[in-house]
Amino acid sequence: MSRFLSARLSALEAYVPGEQPKVQGLIKLNTNESPYPPAPGVREAAAEAAEGLQLYNDLSAGRLIRMLSEACGVRPDQVAVSNGSDEMLAFAFQAFGEKGLAFPDITYGFYPVWANLYGLDARIVPLDEDFRIHIEDYLACGRTVVIANPNAPTGIGLPRDAIARIAESNPQNAVIVDEAYIDFGGESAAGLIDDYDNLLVVRTFSKSRQMAGARLGFALGSRELIGDLNRVRYSFHPYNVNSMTQAAGTAALADPAYFENCRTRIMETREWTKGELKKLGFTVLPSQANFLFAKPKSMSGEQFQQMLRKRNILVRRFDLPRIKDYLRITVGSREQMEIFIQTAKELIA
Ligand SMILES: *Cc1c(COP(=O)(O)O)cnc(C)c1O
Repeated sequence: MSRFLSARLSALEAYVPGEQPKVQGLIKLNTNESPYPPAPGVREAAAEAAEGLQLYNDLSAGRLIRMLSEACGVRPDQVAVSNGSDEMLAFAFQAFGEKGLAFPDITYGFYPVWANLYGLDARIVPLDEDFRIHIEDYLACGRTVVIANPNAPTGIGLPRDAIARIAESNPQNAVIVDEAYIDFGGESAAGLIDDYDNLLVVRTFSKSRQMAGARLGFALGSRELIGDLNRVRYSFHPYNVNSMTQAAGTAALADPAYFENCRTRIMETREWTKGELKKLGFTVLPSQANFLFAKPKSMSGEQFQQMLRKRNILVRRFDLPRIKDYLRITVGSREQMEIFIQTAKELIA
């Protein structure tokens, strides 16, 4: 730390992303990336956009936003785009966080970091002993509610009507629903944005569209909420989604069959892996995401993680009181998960 750093930042605990080692033969099940490549048209679209890199990118991301609005069944003025959904969430915390926030104790680890970064008061609401969100805790709570649906790292989803009730009961506050994993079996709240002008749905191309490295996120909400987010964006970095990423995003949206195929395969592989883990005595939470949250029976989470690591398999663990013995295991390809399960069998024997 230099002596020049603002005092406000010197006390900040930054988010720690999952590690990204570049080791040959590693089975990487620790950062919820897709095991599949982007849609076939993405590479060419990005390469074509690279020909024009001497020019600034389209500030309005017009084509991308039109395609997103069609894919999501909303109007273009109900869509904003960002450099990954992390950026959109950070915009939303800045735009709507001043009245205080409320989010679960076990959720995406970035929420408390942004709350601290922007000096926002956060009420941390414990999940119940089954790691479920009790929606009563958020009804008429007088705060900006932030819910990952499905939640991370549990994978547990809430039905759409639970989100509707939270939005309905907090008409004076924004309700931010982080749908990073919604395409793996959850119920999206996107269809509710015409009914609730306080409801903001945030999504990403990182997980279900196999484009984590392209950094593309988006938000769906009332025209006014979207206008507020663009106000933050224009106060910070208007050119936030580069031209290659805009082209890649439109190419991905132009191939819905590929998207369907990948997400279906991941859901099938998830259910197979879950069954195998249960046979091995693991406690496995019901996941609607592209990962499983599971606890081994006969050893600590840390031990199991380290043994996997020695066998070139990476999984994620969070060193927090209630979940330290759970591992978050990304659903890879069927072949990767067969190796993972075989390895788990050997380690447990
Ligand atoms: C991965 C993830 C994000 C952010 O992903 P981006 O790559 O920034 O789009 C947001 N929320 C949750 C819960 C996530 O797991």
